[in-house]
Formats: sequence, C-alpha cells, structure tokens
Amino acid sequence: MFIQQLRKFFLIVVIIATILLTYLWYDDYTFALNPLSKDIQKKIYKKHQELQYLTYKYFKIKRVFPIIVTDELDASKFGMAVYSQNRQINIYLNKNRFKENENYMIDDVIPHEYAHAIMFALGNFSNENNGHPKMWQDICKKLNGLRCDRFVNHKDILIEKTNIFK
Ligand SMILES: [Zn+2]
Repeated sequence: MFIQQLRKFFLIVVIIATILLTYLWYDDYTFALNPLSKDIQKKIYKKHQELQYLTYKYFKIKRVFPIIVTDELDASKFGMAVYSQNRQINIYLNKNRFKENENYMIDDVIPHEYAHAIMFALGNFSNENNGHPKMWQDICKKLNGLRCDRFVNHKDILIEKTNIFK
C-alpha cells in the first residue's frame, strides 16, 4: 500500500516537472522569436524621451541617438554605444538581457550607453577605462544613471572611424 502511494507521488512529481520544463522551454522559445513586450517597449520609449530632455537641458544637444534592441550582441554585453564611420551614433541593447532584469536595462544600461553617445557627440573619444573617464561619469550622473561606475570591466564602446582625432 505504502509503495503504491509512493509510486503515485513520484508519478505526480514527474508530470509536474515535465509541465514546468515544457512551459519554461516554450517561454524561452517565444521570447527568442518575438520582439520585446509592448510594456517594455513603452518603458524604453519613455526613458529615451527623458534622456533627450536631459541631453538638451545640460548639454544643449538636440541630436537624438537611436536606441536599437538587438539579439546580435555578444551574450556578455548588456548594451553598446557605436560611433560609425558616417558619424552616426547608435545605442544597441542586448534583447536577451531584458529577460533577466528589465529595470536594470532601462534605468542603468540605457543612461550608461547614452552618456557614451554624448561623449562621442562632444568629440571625446577617450580610451581611459575603456571609455569611462571622469567626464563620462559626470554625464552619466546628469542623465540620472543609477550606477555610473567608472571602473566597469566591460568594453561597450565601438569607434568605427580611423581618423577621428583629426
Ligand atoms: Zn560603458
């Protein structure tokens, strides 16, 4: 009798675990295939508006730096600021990182990368701390960045122009 109950119990555990795994797999699968939820997109849009306002308020820069969500960034990266050869400045966000912590992406990563974009726009291409000199930190703080840490150990800027110092 006891053995039968135990069997029943294990069978139920196995069924529940299978359902859970299928659900998690399905969740990953749909996340990978679809764009970010409308809710997150709206939060990014609002943050972008706020940053455009602060950028003009403190630096008198009217330029808008596009924020592009992509799943093609290196998995270790949260975001990246890219200065292209045609002087275009774009901010890329790693879509897959939104799954872990969307608030971190929006309140920390976006202002962090936006500060890099402003540095580029002001003509500062410093390599100090991989592009995180004191000036970058001051800009990041003005943008209400939550963690404007200068000694981050990731390389998140890309400058695609050979003669930027001319
Ligand atoms: Zn950075």
